[in-house]
Formats: sequence, C-alpha cells, structure tokens
Amino acid sequence: MRYLLAVLMAVGVLAQASAGQVSWPGGRKAAVVLTYDDALSSQLDIAIPALDAAGLKGTFFLVGSGVTPATVLRWRAAASEGHELGNHTLFHPCARVKYPMPVQYQIESYTVETMLTEIRTMNAMLTAMDGRAEHAFAVPCGDTLAGGTDYLEPLRLSGLVRYDRDLQWAERLGLDRQHIASAWFPETATGAEMIEAVKQAEQNGGLLVFGFHGIGGDHLKVSAEAHAELLAYLKANRDRIWVAPFSTVMDYATAKK
Ligand SMILES: [Zn+2]
Repeated sequence: MRYLLAVLMAVGVLAQASAGQVSWPGGRKAAVVLTYDDALSSQLDIAIPALDAAGLKGTFFLVGSGVTPATVLRWRAAASEGHELGNHTLFHPCARVKYPMPVQYQIESYTVETMLTEIRTMNAMLTAMDGRAEHAFAVPCGDTLAGGTDYLEPLRLSGLVRYDRDLQWAERLGLDRQHIASAWFPETATGAEMIEAVKQAEQNGGLLVFGFHGIGGDHLKVSAEAHAELLAYLKANRDRIWVAPFSTVMDYATAKK
C-alpha cells in the first residue's frame, strides 16, 4: 500500500485542463468520488459520520479479513444509508517487495484462479451486507500479477465485478482518460491542497476519484480536519460538483459516452 501511494502521489492529479467538457447531472462542472480502502475503523468512527453530517455518500472498498463480527453490522448500516461497499479482496494480496505479509497472502503465491475465487467469495460477503448483486473492485496495492499472470482481463471477462478503480478499466469502458483523475494525499495533506485538486477537476470538467485509507487514525491517514474541510467545500459547492458513489458515477459516465 505504501509503495502504491508513492507511485500515485508522483503521478498526482493525472488530468489537467483539456479540450471539451463532460456533462454531469444538473449541469454540474465536475464529478467527485470519495473512496476509502481496507475497511478501517477510523472510516466507521470518523469518515462516515463526517460524510453523513455533510449529506455526502462515499465508497468503501472493504477487505474481507478486515471486517469483524463487531464491525459487520456497522458496514451494513452504512450501506443502508446509501454508502457504497466495494470489493478489495479477502486477504489483500500484494507483491512481497511492497508490503510485509505472510507468504500465503503474497500475490506471487496466487494463481489467477485463486484470485478470482477470492474476489467471488468477497462478493458474497458484500451481498450479505448490502443486498446488492453487483460490486465494484479496487486492486490491492495496484498489483495485478497473480503468480506472474495479470488477472485484470480474466476478471473483466469473468463478469464478477462491474467496475475496477483504475484507468485501464475506464478506458476499456470507452471513457476518456483525459477527463479522469485520481488523487491520493500524504499524511501531511491540508484541506486546501485537497480542495485545489477538486478545483482542477472543475476546470477540466471531469471526474476526480479520491483514494483514502485512514481518516484521523489507522494507516496512511489524512487528518480528520483536512478531510472535514474537503467535505465542507464539496457540500458548499454541490450545485457545481456532483459527489456520488463510484458505481453511480461510472453508470452515469458509461451511459453518457
Ligand atoms: Zn488496500
């Protein structure tokens, strides 16, 4: 996860101003998706109450092994309030060089078949929580080589997930990657820095996908204050910025293309 963050931060906000504008619901200038990975308790304790207070809906890519009997009902409640639950696998397999984890959970130990079985099993867990038949996916650590073979295309062909949070998947759906950006921020990030990324998306007329881990706690956190400042900006400018769960925005964008 840490290596991925470094890569994504180096890329920064991928898309800058480019020709053409995308039309969003209600004539809004941009779409913003707030995603939160790894089923962290700070997301339940801090992020979701902040989203609820602002009247905004987020997308939570849950890792099955991070959901406990104590938290499963809270995730279910979040889903019933309109937050999206997404698939981030059961065991979060990553390349061994990136993240210390037991050998059986290193992605070098997987095959494409075991990866897809894990994703299918996580889907069932998510359906038990939210009652939905389909879920979006986010690749753990950005590592897609299961035992040396890329699993993304087999995953797409399997139909197990509707959308994956990466640019190649968006391109395969026919979306213009010039209008899609992702934003991951370090622990020192300020609200102003995150708001600036939103303003760039407004200029671009595109889609900005935020990626968060901990909020005010847990790993790779941003501060609760910076997160709250971002939400306050989004709430205050909701006539210009469409904030919706990942699959909702992808459904709209793919239908409009
Ligand atoms: Zn993760």
